[in-house]
Amino acid sequence: MQFENCDMSTTLKFLDPGLEEAYIQEAVLNNHFVPRLIYLGGAFLYAIFFMLDMFFLKEILRYCVFIRFFLVCPLLLSIYFLIGSPIYKKHHTAISVIAGFVSGGGLLFMIANAPSPAEHLYYAGLMLCCLFYYVFQPRQLLSNSLSWGMFFLYIAVSLAYTEVPGAILLNNLFIFFFFNIGGMFACYAMELTQRKEFIHKCTMEDQSYRLYQALEEVDGQREKAERLSLQDPLTGLPNRRHFFSVLREALEPGHRDGQELSLMLIDIDYFKEVNDQLGHMAGDEVLAIVAHIIGDSVRQCDTACRYGGEEFAVLLPGASSQTVETIGRRLMEKIESADLLAGRSEVSLTVSVGFVSLSPGSKISIEEVIGRADRALYEAKNSGRNQLRMWSSDSHGCCV
Ligand code: GH3
Ligand code: MG
Ligand code: MG
Repeated sequence: MQFENCDMSTTLKFLDPGLEEAYIQEAVLNNHFVPRLIYLGGAFLYAIFFMLDMFFLKEILRYCVFIRFFLVCPLLLSIYFLIGSPIYKKHHTAISVIAGFVSGGGLLFMIANAPSPAEHLYYAGLMLCCLFYYVFQPRQLLSNSLSWGMFFLYIAVSLAYTEVPGAILLNNLFIFFFFNIGGMFACYAMELTQRKEFIHKCTMEDQSYRLYQALEEVDGQREKAERLSLQDPLTGLPNRRHFFSVLREALEPGHRDGQELSLMLIDIDYFKEVNDQLGHMAGDEVLAIVAHIIGDSVRQCDTACRYGGEEFAVLLPGASSQTVETIGRRLMEKIESADLLAGRSEVSLTVSVGFVSLSPGSKISIEEVIGRADRALYEAKNSGRNQLRMWSSDSHGCCV
């Protein structure tokens, strides 16, 4: 939604119904402070005006006690406690109209029954009743109609039932009239400010949400880029860079926690021939299938990656030489027996495997570990390929 385009120069209502509803929700229903203040203040004023009855209007004390303490004050205080409840949220307009009319009507009733000229003292109280209507600020038409309705009712009651001296009546009407006009303008100004602030707040929220989304997207892109930078695009396996960081971490002192660590290097035999006979594209397909088999054959805790060209490396934490040998041989069998389809041609392949197993706690550099696995692989190749060899410290060669 484009909040910047909300024009309120001609109307106090947002043209967008959703926005108007959101505003009413926040300004009327979620704002408990103003209505609570008005209802509590109303009940308090209604109660202390009892002093007037006591000293000046003893004749109507009975009505006044009933109207003030058994009707209006309990009603206003009940509404005070209702504010914020689901009933208030649902019927807040009706509740406020009833409150305004009951308290205004109560005053008019007292005026109508009070001996002249004491009743003019009530006009101030009557004006205060109009305050209820400013609870409806966002509903201008309603608040103005109620306020002016009360004004004309006062005139009618004064003229019909009481003998208010002309000067007092005129004075009251004058004050009441300007009170209403002033109230209208004050409400209009307050409402306008409140709506502008609401738009400002919505704009800020909207912008922060967009910013948040943009940051989320950047974050997602960064994560994706990071993931891709560690992945081999052809085979989908982690690449050499990722492998080195995992190996470096695994070799850090204290990292192995008394566990063995093995590294296996796998090289496809005579792969150049595949490329020469079937082409590079077919070679790529075969590489991807072999990578898939390798990834599937290792354990969940192992890290299999494409080490380079047609060479793969697998890091096997906690795997003894026997375990690596089992995994290696199973892997060789799977690849040898797999029907590798490259385009329409079927290809049979073998791999050579060299590995090294480090005993728990052994301190060794990353270059040395790779060097040992490499020497084992070299030995496997030298022994005629399709072989598996383990680096051994005794012979500085391979013994499996
Ligand atoms: P051996 O390892 O048994 O000694 O023989 P080889 O033929 O596998 O070894 P060599 O190192 O001579 O050749 C490796 C070949 O792997 C050469 C190169 O064209 C091919 N190769 C390396 N990377 C890729 C790749 O990404 N795609 C394809 N199609 N071929 C690749
Ligand atoms: Mg090879
Ligand atoms: Mg090679």
